Amino acid sequence: MFSIKIFIFVALISTALAGPWGVICAGKDKNTIRGRDRYGYGKYGAPRGERTHNGVDVSCADGSVVKAPFDGMIVRQAKPYKTDNAINDGVQIISKDYCIKMFYVKPVKYKGSIKKGEKLGILLPMQKVYPGITSHVHVENCNLSDPTSYL
Ligand code: ZN
Repeated sequence: MFSIKIFIFVALISTALAGPWGVICAGKDKNTIRGRDRYGYGKYGAPRGERTHNGVDVSCADGSVVKAPFDGMIVRQAKPYKTDNAINDGVQIISKDYCIKMFYVKPVKYKGSIKKGEKLGILLPMQKVYPGITSHVHVENCNLSDPTSYL
């Protein structure tokens, strides 16, 4: 009985700590931030050479279905790089509460409404560009503030 109470308590706490956004990578039960690999790590503010990481990297395998984190509108294509490569794609999504860019995703569309949990696209082949990296969706707020608490 005691252990059941503890279990329920822990379950309630984990729910309370989860942010308002839905799960981004299909097949996962929560959004997990990329840990350390040979290229760095995925938390907000992590070092990137001279600069810092302006978003969070949500772990997700190449080819996975990527889902919209909230009800919103896809307003435009958003690319991470000036020079094209196999993973240079993504979208900007807005709602009344949020404005984000999501990178490394081949989206189902570049404009139009989308619902939380609906298929947004497919994770591009990140291993081809960064062999051995923890493949991920990069999510950043349009104003470059920390999105971690939304996850
Ligand atoms: Zn990133």
